[in-house]
Amino acid sequence: MTDKPIKSDEQWRQELTPEQYQVLRGKGTERPFSGAYWDAHDDAVYKCAGCGTQLFRSDEKFDSGTGWPSFCAPAAADAVATEVDRSHGMARTEVHCARCGGHLGHIFEDGPAPTGLRYCINSASLKKDPPVR
Ligand code: FE
Repeated sequence: MTDKPIKSDEQWRQELTPEQYQVLRGKGTERPFSGAYWDAHDDAVYKCAGCGTQLFRSDEKFDSGTGWPSFCAPAAADAVATEVDRSHGMARTEVHCARCGGHLGHIFEDGPAPTGLRYCINSASLKKDPPVR
C-alpha cells in the first residue's frame, strides 16, 4: 500500500481518545469485558480506529468468553500484520493494522474451525460500522 499515514506522536495524541492512544500507539490492553464490542452481535464491519481501514467483519466474530472482541480471521489477509511480542515473559503473536501500524491485540491458536485462530482484539482499536455489502 502506498498511502500509509505517517503521523507524529503528537498528531496521534490529538486525533485519538486517550484509551485509543494507549492501545493503538502504546500497545496497551483494555480490561476484559470493558470495551464497546466484546458482546456485539450485529451485522457489521470493524475498521481501524486509527486510520479507517476495514480490519474485521461480524461474519468471522465469535464468542470467546474472554471479554475481548474475537475473530477467527481478518477481513482481508493483508489488512493486518504480525510480529513476535516477547513482553511479559511470554512469546505471543502481536497483530497490528498493516496500514497505520496501530496495535490491535494478539493471535492465539485456540480459535474455532476453520482457521483454528483467535484474533483477540481490543475494542478501543476498532470502530464498528454498518457493513458495506
Ligand atoms: Fe490503521
